Order: sequence, then structure tokens, then C-alpha cells
Amino acid sequence: MEALSPAAAQLPMEGEGRLRFWNDSTAAIFLLAILCEALMEAGVYCISTFTSPWKAHVIMGPLVACFGTLLGSSILTSQRAFRKKLEIEIAAKGEAQQRQAEVTRQLTQALGQLEFHNSRLLSFSEFTHGLLSCISEPDIYECTARFGALLFPASIGALYRPDANGFWRAATSWPNANNGLITRVRLVPNQQPPNAAAKDLISALRQGIGNRSCLGLPLISGNDLIGVLYIETQSENGCDEHAAALSSRTAHMAKAFCEEITLAFASLRLRTELSQQAIRDPLTGLYNRRYLEEALARELKRASRQGSAVSVLMVDLDHFKLLNDQFGHGCGDEVLKGLGNTILSHCRGEDVACRYGGEEFLLVLPNTDTEGAVAKAQHLRSHIKKLSALTKYRCQITASVGVATYPHDGMSMATVVKSADAAMYAAKRLGRDRVCRSSELALVNT
Ligand code: GH3
Ligand code: MG
Ligand code: MG
Repeated sequence: MEALSPAAAQLPMEGEGRLRFWNDSTAAIFLLAILCEALMEAGVYCISTFTSPWKAHVIMGPLVACFGTLLGSSILTSQRAFRKKLEIEIAAKGEAQQRQAEVTRQLTQALGQLEFHNSRLLSFSEFTHGLLSCISEPDIYECTARFGALLFPASIGALYRPDANGFWRAATSWPNANNGLITRVRLVPNQQPPNAAAKDLISALRQGIGNRSCLGLPLISGNDLIGVLYIETQSENGCDEHAAALSSRTAHMAKAFCEEITLAFASLRLRTELSQQAIRDPLTGLYNRRYLEEALARELKRASRQGSAVSVLMVDLDHFKLLNDQFGHGCGDEVLKGLGNTILSHCRGEDVACRYGGEEFLLVLPNTDTEGAVAKAQHLRSHIKKLSALTKYRCQITASVGVATYPHDGMSMATVVKSADAAMYAAKRLGRDRVCRSSELALVNT
């Protein structure tokens, strides 16, 4: 007994509460292991000194029990520590998996956005090519609606254009005409700059928008507000970060979309002006001789196919040189302009009126026989006489008119025009201020 260590004698034999003191600590496990080793050493020494088996049993019994308890406690503690460590590792692994799933979700989302953006860029490129081939306003409207629906899929939109009655109308819209947007707005006309006018229009269009987000972009060409592009997104969650990012991309795309449409209108206007300049006489606004030749050739072909008549009126102002000499070229120009307006106001839509030379005008009347053409010529002549009242000089203004009809007075453009010219000169010879028909080259009296 004297060899038994005092520390070992005081060790707890059993009891959860006391053993727990040693739990949860690797250092405690380590100390227990050292203690057990020390006990083993002590036991060996005791066995060698015990004089009887009874003594050995009495002394070694508690020691073995103590050792067993300590060993069990140590194993239990190790198992608990291991289980806890395992639990921590499993929890950490779970968190890592969650983080990985989140990263995968974000990557998939970003990839989706990139794919969408990429296909949007391709569509935009097609849109700009489509606009290049637009030769009229309806062409531009069709292209705008088709690509508006493609480029802004989760939206409704419209392109507003001013009309002659002071309204701004939805000239085109997507995804269809009945998308719920306002179809026309009337703004009080004032002289405000284009951006301010656009702002007024956009705030009028926003009426009843609710909590949806919208974009209104002005189409400004030079100093003119030529239209407004209006888009409403159907997303109702303006706070969502993803939605906000999308809407910022959408805004950029809408701006580029709007600029392309503005360019298309400007280019169309320029082309129209150029082609008008190429075919119109600047003083009178009537067609020029070049256009007349195209138009008359076309009408004669059509008349030949349909077996119909085409009449031509050659109108020449009488003694115009004298008028110029007496009142000046300014007065002469004024009369020529007035004559242009008079001719235009007495023309049908299909008639072609042109300034053939200085004070000579030629009218092509499709589907009109000689009788109809003569009646028209008389009507026109009487209105030309009224032009004198328009000038401040109250000078006398009259005209001589020659009438020729296809196919009777000529089978080609050259011959029918020549016949009308000859009839006009006949009218001059017969005293001016009258109408002469080529077929008879006779005076048709007033
Ligand atoms: P007639 O009755 O025989 O046709 O006599 P006219 O004086 O009208 O004919 P003429 O051919 O002798 O003179 C045509 C005049 O028209 C000469 C020219 O100065 C004038 N004229 C031609 N183009 C213009 C124009 O653009 N502006 C003005 N003011 N005069 C023009
Ligand atoms: Mg003349
Ligand atoms: Mg003349």
C-alpha cells in the first residue's frame, strides 16, 4: 500500500458529474493517459511486493476499477470529441455546399443574362440593317414594332408621332396595337424647346402607370421634336437588384434604339427632299420636265395596255415678256407661282402637272378624252384670268392652251406633245387667251 501514489488514491472512481470534469478537453485526456501509465507502473511494483493473493486483490481491485473507469472515460471523451469534430466538419461541408450552390445559381443567372444580351445585340444589328432598307414612314413603323417586341420582350411600347391636327398619336406599338398605352395625346401648342415638349408629352403618357417603370425618349432631329419613344416595363419590383441591372441595360438599349429610329426618319426626310428637288420646279412646286417625261411615258404605256385615252394640255402665258418688262421679274415670278397653285388646285390626284419651260406648263390627264380635256382647259383658262387680281399691279394675265389626245393626235410621247404644242401655237395665232384642239386645230371659243 505504501507504494500507491496519493494522487491516484484521490481519483474519482465513478459518477457522471465528476467525470465530466475531464471531458471536452484533449489536455484532460492526455493527462489521464499519463496517470494511467503511472498507475500501471505502481501496480506492477505492488504485485511484486504483495505477500498474499488476498492482499493483491484488495489493493489491485480498486486500482483496476479506477484504471478501467479512467480508460472508459478517456475513450468516451475521445468519441464525443470525435463526434463533435465530425459534426462541425459536416456543418462546414453543408455550408460550403450551400455557398457553391449559390455561386452556381449566380453563374447560371449571369450566363442567362449574357446570352440574352448577346441575342439582343444580334437583333439590334438586324434592326439597323432593317431600317436601312426602309423607304417610307410605314416601313419604319413596321420595323420599330417588330424589333421593339424582340429587343424589349418584357415590355409594352409605342412610337408617338405628331399629326396634322395637333395630336401625338401612337404611330406604331408593340407587342400589339391594343397594348393598353394611350393612343393619342393633345398638347397645347407652344414654342418650347423640343426636350421640354417631349417632357410634357411623356408625363401625359405616364398617366395611370401605377408602380410600373417607364422610359420616355425624345426623337429630336435638328431643332424639331419628331417623335417620342415610350416603353413601360412589366416588372413591378423596382428594388430587385437584378431587375435594376436589367432596366439599366434596357435603358441603354432603348436610347440606342431611339437614336437609330431618329436617324432613319432624318435620312428618309433627306432622301425625300433630295428626290423632290430632283423632280420639282423650285419656283412653282410643280414637277419638272425630267419627271414629266417619266410620268408621261408610264401613262402612255398604261393607256396602251388598257385601251384608254391620255390627253395633254400645253399652257403658255400670253405676252409674258411684256409683263416682265413692264412690272419687273419679281412680278413675273409672282404670277408664275400663282399659276402653279391654280393648276395644282384644279388637278386630280392622278393628273401630272409640270413646268415645261419658262412660262409654259404641261398637264397630263390620264383616262381623259379630247372633250374632257378641252373642258378642263377652258376651266383652267378662266381661272388663270383671275390671277391678275392676285398681283398688286392688277396686270392682265391670260393664257393660250393647246390640247392633244393619245392615241388620236399622236402614238408616242414626242408626237402627242408636239401636237399639243402645235395646237397652243394655233391658239396664239388665232388671238391668244383661248383653247385649241390638235385634231381640228380650230378655235375653241370662250
Ligand atoms: P407669247 O404670248 O407669244 O407667248 O409671248 P411671250 O412674251 O409670253 O413669249 P416669249 O417667249 O417671247 O417670252 C417668254 C418670257 O418669259 C421671256 C422670259 O423673260 C419670261 N420668263 C421665262 N421664265 C421666267 C421666270 O422664271 N420668271 C420670270 N419672271 N420670267 C420668265
Ligand atoms: Mg408666252
Ligand atoms: Mg412660251
